[in-house]
Amino acid sequence: MTDLQPVRGTRDLLGEDQRRFHRVVDVARRVAATYGFDEWITPIFEDTRVFARTLGETSDVVMKEMYTFPDRGGDSLTLRPEGTAGVCRALVTNGLTQSLPQKVFYAGPMFRYERPQKGRYRQFHQIGLELIGPAEPLADAEAIACGWTILEALGVASDTVLELNTLGDKDSRDAYRSALVAYFTDHKADLSEDSLNRLERNPMRILDSKDEGDRRIVANAPTIQPYLTEAAATFYQKLQAHLTRFRVSFVENPRIVRGLDYYGHTAFEFVTSRLGAQGTVMAGGRYDGLVQEMGGPATPAVGWAAGIERLSMLMETAPPPPAPVAVIPIGDAAEATAIELLQALRSNGIRAEMAYRGNLKRRMERANRTGARAAVILGDDDIAKGVAQVKNLQTGTQEAIPFSQIPSRLR
Ligand code: ATP
Ligand code: MG
Repeated sequence: MTDLQPVRGTRDLLGEDQRRFHRVVDVARRVAATYGFDEWITPIFEDTRVFARTLGETSDVVMKEMYTFPDRGGDSLTLRPEGTAGVCRALVTNGLTQSLPQKVFYAGPMFRYERPQKGRYRQFHQIGLELIGPAEPLADAEAIACGWTILEALGVASDTVLELNTLGDKDSRDAYRSALVAYFTDHKADLSEDSLNRLERNPMRILDSKDEGDRRIVANAPTIQPYLTEAAATFYQKLQAHLTRFRVSFVENPRIVRGLDYYGHTAFEFVTSRLGAQGTVMAGGRYDGLVQEMGGPATPAVGWAAGIERLSMLMETAPPPPAPVAVIPIGDAAEATAIELLQALRSNGIRAEMAYRGNLKRRMERANRTGARAAVILGDDDIAKGVAQVKNLQTGTQEAIPFSQIPSRLR
């Protein structure tokens, strides 16, 4: 068993990587709570239909990226590639479609069969929000503002730009689709094979192509603006006005589309130039059709998801764990008292450690090596007097302190 490796596209998170990861989740959870979002935890795998039905049969995720397998009972299951479909399934199956609005925060692993590279993995992790119920652009603005506040609290907001677009309503999109098909049909000879497929199934997807040749063609493609209905244009104007009131700045980018089929009106991405090709850290939009796809009533909703790995890479270092206190018994008899003291320190919230063996010299060496801030040294004579020698390892000063006072002195 010497050749075992982590599965391609998966990673172990240890030390600093793990601390960054949890800082992203902790900060996001705290900020989302101030905006009134509550956390939902849904399963990591679902009935395959939860995703096949809702991500749109033609999306890249469904066609090429899903981890789908029959379980031992013969049911088709899928490791979730994203969080929104599961939240909408949970809204319906928990009978919450009449208790709106629901403001949901989530964090957890997602799985996509992609080509691994920096910032792109097969098991990756997202934080996300879903604001289910309101149809007003104020909800879109609030969801985006919450995302921005999270980026700010993580110290990465100044590295990102909010790019905003509208995908209009159904009438806008139908008119736009015809214009796109006409344009891309003229450039058929130069499109990538993937985009030729998209031309038939969902031409707006071509706007999101990562192929170099495609991108040159996309640069001159028509934008949706002239095809917006009056209602869609008004929605977009109100969204922009609200964002300004929330003090969130943005640039318009008519090329922003979402990778999944169920989006309309708002589409946005927070992008950075610091992560190479994987420049999108947070992405989302309005998905008014999804809850109905899941078997519930027609229910408007807006949300976003952000890659925790990409946010972690942008962040400054996470604070290290606090330096421990080393408890050091001299001799076997002292160990019993040392364990009591060890637990007294821990129950006072102090990180405290005791080595499992070794003489005084060895234990002191270990305490210094692990960066301990203090050593609590217990010899038989001191124990008889109810005191221990507390040595400050930064200054080297040492003092005999009664047991009962040690936790408060070290806190
Ligand atoms: P991309 O264009 O980078 O493939 P996407 O449009 O597929 O992104 P979404 O489904 O919108 O991404 O997911 C939201 C966010 O999740 C992305 O902006 C990114 O930060 C993160 N993300 C998506 N796929 C991966 C992955 N394979 N590895 C790491 N993070 C990812
Ligand atoms: Mg993708």
